Amino acid sequence: MTDSYTKAVNSGFTKTLAKKLGLPRPAILRRFRAGDPLTVGPVLVVADDASMGDADTLAKELLGWGLDVRRQPTDDTRWGAVLLVLTETKRPTDVSSAVLATGSVLRRLATNGRVVTLSRAAADGDAPALAAARNGVDGFLRSLAKELRAGATGNGIVLTDGVAVNGTSVLATLRFFLSARSAYVDGQLLPVGPADADLPADWDRPLAGKVAVVTGAARGIGAAIAKTLARDGATVVCVDVPAAGEGLARTANAVGGTALQLDVTADDAGRRILEHARTRHGSLDVVVHNAGILRDKLLANMKPAQWDSVVAVNLEAQLRINEQLLGSGVEGLRIVSLASTSGIAGNKGQTNYGFSKAGVIGHTRATAPWAAAHGGTANAVAPGFIETEMTASIPFATREVARRLNSLQQGGRPADVAEAIVFLASPASAGVNGQVLRVCGQNLVGR
Ligand code: NAD
Repeated sequence: MTDSYTKAVNSGFTKTLAKKLGLPRPAILRRFRAGDPLTVGPVLVVADDASMGDADTLAKELLGWGLDVRRQPTDDTRWGAVLLVLTETKRPTDVSSAVLATGSVLRRLATNGRVVTLSRAAADGDAPALAAARNGVDGFLRSLAKELRAGATGNGIVLTDGVAVNGTSVLATLRFFLSARSAYVDGQLLPVGPADADLPADWDRPLAGKVAVVTGAARGIGAAIAKTLARDGATVVCVDVPAAGEGLARTANAVGGTALQLDVTADDAGRRILEHARTRHGSLDVVVHNAGILRDKLLANMKPAQWDSVVAVNLEAQLRINEQLLGSGVEGLRIVSLASTSGIAGNKGQTNYGFSKAGVIGHTRATAPWAAAHGGTANAVAPGFIETEMTASIPFATREVARRLNSLQQGGRPADVAEAIVFLASPASAGVNGQVLRVCGQNLVGR
C-alpha cells in the first residue's frame, strides 16, 4: 500500500532526475501530528473592501490560536496560508483586488500551504449580481486549487445567510481546512449553517467523553477511523462481521474500545449497537457507517446476488440502523456515512456500488433535518482513491492512472478519510449538516 513513485521523486538522485525529465512530482503531504504547528507559516488575511470587517474579526480569532497573522502581503515571507474573505461581496467587480492580491503571493506559498475562501451561499431571492458574485467564488476556488503546487490545497467555506464569520462551526471548519488534518481534501466548498455549539476546550481532543461506533472497523479505512476517533478522545465501539473477528479484536484493543461482532444487515443491527453502547459505555454520540463491499461486474453480467448484497450492506443497512437509532430517541447523534466518488461520477463495472454510494448521499441529505430535530447531524464523506488492501488489488497500470488523477497526483491514506470523519463528528461542527465532503485530492472525476 505504498506509493513508491511519490517516495522516489522526493528523495536523492531520483528526485533530481524526475525534475530534469519534467516528470510529475507529487509532494509528501504533511499529516496531523499532535504538537505540530497548525499551519506551516504565517497566515495572510485578504478581503474585498466590503468584507474588511469580517476579515478583522477572523484575524483576531486566528491570533487567538497563536498564529502569525498578517494583513499586508510582503515579499520576504513564505506563507503558510492565505485566507480570502469575500463574505460581503455584492457584485462580481468587487472581488478583483482581493483575488489578485491572493494571486500575487501564491509563488511564495509554502509546501503544504493552504488557501481558504470564505464566502456566502447564493440564495433564492438574491439579486442577479449578488448571486453571480457569490456563485463565482465556487468556480474560482475549484480552478485555483488546480493551480496550487507542492502539496498546497485550496478549499472554501460557504456561509449560509445570517451565519457570523466567527460562528462556532465556521471556526471549526476553518481550523480543519488550515490544518494538516485536511491533507487530502482539496478543491472543496463546504456549506456551513447556524449552529448552537461550543468550541472544544482542547482542539486536539474534540471528542473527549463521547462514545462512537464504527462499522467495518476490522481493517482498512474503518480501523483508521477507530484509531483517529480514539486519538481525539472518543471511546470507540468497533463493529464487524464474525468472520473478521481477529482484525476486529486487534482494532478494539489498539483503541482501548470494545468489539461488537455484528453483521450490519441484521434486522436488529441498530438496536444491538445502541444496547451495546449504552450498557458498556453509558451513551451513544457518534455512528460512522463505514462497512462496505464491492462486487464489481458490468451490468450485462451482473448476478442478482452481486447487486443485492452491495445494496444491502452499503445502503439498506445504513437506512435501517439510522431508523432504529433516531427512532429510539437518541439525542445529539452525529451520523457520518461513507459514500464514494464512484457515487458521484460513476465508474464502469460499478453500477451496483455507484447506486449504493449515490444512495448514501441521497439518504444523508434526507436524514439531516431528522437528525437536526434531535440535536444531531448527518453527513457523508466521499473518498477518492485511497491506498488500502482494496485498491492494492487493482492491476498496476490501472492503479497508477487512478491514483494520479487528482490535483495532488497521489492516492490518499485511510487516515485522511478518518480525519474528515472526526471533523464532522465533532461537537463544534454542528452547523455542517446534510453535506458530502470529498476526500479525494480534487479528483478529476465528478464535481
Ligand atoms: P475494506 O474492504 O478494507 O473494509 C471493509 C470492512 O467492512 C471489512 O472489515 C469488512 O469485514 C466489513 N464489512 C463488510 N460487510 C460487513 C457487514 N455486513 N457487516 C459488518 N461489517 C462488514 O474496505 P475499505 O477500503 O476500508 O473501505 C471502507 C469504506 O470506504 C467502504 O464503505 C468503501 O466503500 C468506502 N470507500 C473506500 C475507498 C477506497 O479507495 N478504499 C474509496 C471510496 C469509498
